[in-house]
Amino acid sequence: MNSLLKCRYCGWVGGKSDFEWDHMDPKIKTESFLLDFLQGKLELICSGCNRQKSDKTSQDYTFWRWLFPRQANFGPIRAHTFMDTLLQRIHREIR
Ligand SMILES: [Zn+2]
Repeated sequence: MNSLLKCRYCGWVGGKSDFEWDHMDPKIKTESFLLDFLQGKLELICSGCNRQKSDKTSQDYTFWRWLFPRQANFGPIRAHTFMDTLLQRIHREIR
C-alpha cells in the first residue's frame, strides 16, 4: 500500500507521484540537488502549490496564501492592489 502525503500549504492528500521536491528558499539553492536535500533545504509539496509558489520562499508563499485565499494565480500583483488587500485582510482578522 502506498503511503499518502499531505501538502503542508493546502492540506491536499495524495500519493507520492502527485508531489514534487521544492526548495523552501529558492534563493539559497546550490547546483547540487543532493547537497540541498541532505542539508534539509527541500520539502515535498503538491504539484499545484509548487506551480503557484514558483520562486517564492516558504514564508512568502504562506503569506500569499493567507492574503489571497481564493486566488488561483499568484502572479504579479500591482502595488495598490496589494496594499488594499492587505489592509482589508487585517481588518477582517481583527474585527
Ligand atoms: Zn498544496
